[in-house]
Amino acid sequence: MPVINGISKPAGVRCVQLDDANLCRIFGQPERPAVCGQLQPAADMCGANQAHALHYLHQLERATCPTAKSG
Ligand code: SF4
Repeated sequence: MPVINGISKPAGVRCVQLDDANLCRIFGQPERPAVCGQLQPAADMCGANQAHALHYLHQLERATCPTAKSG
């Protein structure tokens, strides 16, 4: 399974920095990976609810997985 650079976790695995309310424990702190700050939210990514955002995220993971088979 590929590892996301800067976060040191496999794709599809919940980040250890997420708290029970799905908020980042290290937001605004220097140890937060640069890749997290570079990701800009967008309406098509976030949608109207968490289900939409998770579906979008799973689609991104599938689309960028180097071991996924196309077709
Ligand atoms: S912003 Fe980055 S470090 Fe914070 S919870 Fe999300 S993936 Fe983890």
